[in-house]
Amino acid sequence: MGGREATMVLLDENGIRCDGRKVDETRKITIKAGVLKNADGSAYIEFGDNKILVGIFGPRDVHPKHMSDTDTGILRVRYHMEPFSVTERKNPAPSRREIEISKVIKEALEPAVMLEKFPRTAVDVFIEILQADGGTRCAALSAASVALADAGIPMRDLVAACASGKVADTIVLDVNNEEDQAGQADMPIGYMPNLKKITLLQLDGILTPEEYKKCVEVGVNGCKIVYELQKKALTDKYFGNGSD
Ligand code: ADP
Repeated sequence: MGGREATMVLLDENGIRCDGRKVDETRKITIKAGVLKNADGSAYIEFGDNKILVGIFGPRDVHPKHMSDTDTGILRVRYHMEPFSVTERKNPAPSRREIEISKVIKEALEPAVMLEKFPRTAVDVFIEILQADGGTRCAALSAASVALADAGIPMRDLVAACASGKVADTIVLDVNNEEDQAGQADMPIGYMPNLKKITLLQLDGILTPEEYKKCVEVGVNGCKIVYELQKKALTDKYFGNGSD
């Protein structure tokens, strides 16, 4: 983002986007729960060309002990991009961006997790970005919720996440990497559909108050689509999808 000139048509005269989608369409999303044998819970998500794996460990003892809280459990989140996840090799050292995204995902998950049920312990959320293509924080947050549920961590709701944005002066759902680079705004949203609460909202770009409202509305609708797929991933694992 940031005013770079678009080298491609972001939205054609028929309202079709650069990857063939309509304005209110998400990319193809596939979520699978319980994919890692050695984790307490796990999930794998494909969100367009994003490929992300999440492993959950805990609740477990906190070391060093002074980091623990006698009244409540703590959530620790590490968002990590594989060096091969982007076209130019990414330096394996944690970047400021990875530290920031770890923090926003942690804060977006906290309202959903009943941390008070396991005082003095920690739940670790390890997020591995295998392939990135715009919108990894939303895809990772959605997968992390499923992985926490798969680990049997008591939760108030799942956090479903999807971004909306402004491309060619139009509010669109689920901004892809090209649209993120060349578009006018990107708004990642995390939402608990059952509790009707937003737990993540960021905005990169400039919107009018009307556009802002529309972006939230469109993004929340995207979260509801993701929510159905999250629930399906969990029911497929625990009640079978007929193919197992
Ligand atoms: P998000 O992935 O949540 O949209 P950003 O807006 O920061 O987060 O990043 C947008 C996209 O830019 C990423 O999904 C990824 O495809 C790409 N990207 C991020 N970091 C790098 C990097 N170090 N090298 C190349 N591409 C990157």
